Amino acid sequence: LDVPIHEAVLGEAAGFGDTVALIDGTNGMSLTYAQLDGFHRRIAAALAEAGLRKGDVLALHSPNTIAYPAVFYGATRAGASVTTVHPLATAEEFAKQLADSGAKWIVTVSPLLDTARRAAELTGGVQEIYVCDQAPASEGHTSILDMLSSTAPEPAVAIDPGEDVAALPYSSGTTGTPKGVMLTHRSIGTNLEQLRPFIPMGEADRILAVLPFFHIYGLTALMNAPLRCGSTVVVLPRFDLAQFLEAIQTHRITGLYVAPPIVLALAKHPLVGEYDLSSLRYIVSAAAPLDAELAEACSARLGLPPVRQAYGMTELSPGTHVVPLSVEEPPAGTVGKLLPNTEMRIVSLEDPARDAEPGTDGEILIRGPQVMKGYLGRPDATADMIDADGWVHTGDVGRTDEDGWLYVVDRVKELIKYKGYQVAPAELEALLLTHEQVADAAVIGVYDAEGNEVPKAFLVRGPAAESLTEDDVMAYVAERVSPYKKVRQAEFIGAVPRAASGKILRRELRDREKTENTEEQ
Ligand code: ATP
Ligand code: MG
Repeated sequence: LDVPIHEAVLGEAAGFGDTVALIDGTNGMSLTYAQLDGFHRRIAAALAEAGLRKGDVLALHSPNTIAYPAVFYGATRAGASVTTVHPLATAEEFAKQLADSGAKWIVTVSPLLDTARRAAELTGGVQEIYVCDQAPASEGHTSILDMLSSTAPEPAVAIDPGEDVAALPYSSGTTGTPKGVMLTHRSIGTNLEQLRPFIPMGEADRILAVLPFFHIYGLTALMNAPLRCGSTVVVLPRFDLAQFLEAIQTHRITGLYVAPPIVLALAKHPLVGEYDLSSLRYIVSAAAPLDAELAEACSARLGLPPVRQAYGMTELSPGTHVVPLSVEEPPAGTVGKLLPNTEMRIVSLEDPARDAEPGTDGEILIRGPQVMKGYLGRPDATADMIDADGWVHTGDVGRTDEDGWLYVVDRVKELIKYKGYQVAPAELEALLLTHEQVADAAVIGVYDAEGNEVPKAFLVRGPAAESLTEDDVMAYVAERVSPYKKVRQAEFIGAVPRAASGKILRRELRDREKTENTEEQ
């Protein structure tokens, strides 16, 4: 798709004028497509007038709001690359991203203004901070209201869709420090085209944007994709189960794009029964492994077709596999079929130069027009990720069946090697969640007294589970898996640490393990 992303989305949406584009799920405020188009043009004009030039980086530091897309498209129209920032980032974390990305402009919201200011002070180099809500301007920052009343001419910026970076999201940081992922207008736009036949959206769709726009999954599935099709997007600033269920009921939501923890809540939480969710037609889950049984329990409880999975990563703009909505009974556990114009290889874990035997586990390699331009300022990391032939080494383990459905097992780095056998934490986590009294679970590899790497489960007790013991849970797993996969240590914790994209931060659990062991010594 060879036009800038704001054209790809809003150019196509031009015919939807008075249709409601966005609704704030917390207060009912809304924007029509005509307003969204007008606002993004005013924002582009005001940014250009303030001195923003093509190639500048603008940091968008906000939870989901109805203004978020207008700022994003306004900034890209002015020629900026938008680096999306976690709204809960500390000033120090935000400062790192500002410094790494070289951002000169910040758009934030009033409640986060102090953090943004401190981050800007720590870095230096930020020219202007905008506050993007109803709050008037005060010392040291400009209000979006001033931007919207700007009479400056709209900038005419020549954008090269294949070269120019539209978005600079940071990867989730699950495996290491987050890296700035350079996504061009073309890679994002092409991925929208590739996804379209798999998950058709239209004017009748009402999408609930509860996952954050700042992560590439939300940016694509909850913002770009529905807004180019005339759908209505209801935004929520964070996940709160009651508010989420209420929004589905009130706004007659038709489609959900969520991550596995939300599927878990929909399958298990008692609150779910108290709401009318009959408007829902489908649920898509992506960003982390989803257990087949859990998915089945969720769709059965809500009387919906099977939960569809999708697979991707920030570096792939983000999609490579989706279970098409049109397939009524996809095989259990699959993350989908390869998107058009995308190539995949699955290579042996022992010898990456060889393809894995068909049907067996290997590392997933991807090539296609959705591949990122690279990591910002990290040529070495880029070369580790994208080889000389253009293949992205995803670091994920998967296999396909004879019909081409892909199954993702886990990340290569997370596999636990128990006495030479490979154990996938994701598989054990899925099994643990089928235990009625386990509300949440995470598994990592730890070393036992003999120096063997063994699976350890961190468990969160369900509502009526005071008497549940670690041994009960370990016995439950032992009855259901081959002996080498047994959970050999367990511990109850208050909550499983997760990234905003829903992924388990196993890193944090490992750190916690280390600290405890040091304290014991
Ligand atoms: P970092 O690369 O910074 O460590 P991250 O890999 O978690 O963080 P993302 O780009 O948000 O950052 O996530 C991509 C990863 O999410 C994939 O590599 C894969 O491990 C996982 N993933 C995405 N979709 C699925 C899915 N349907 N099933 C299993 N895993 C998935
Ligand atoms: Mg990654």
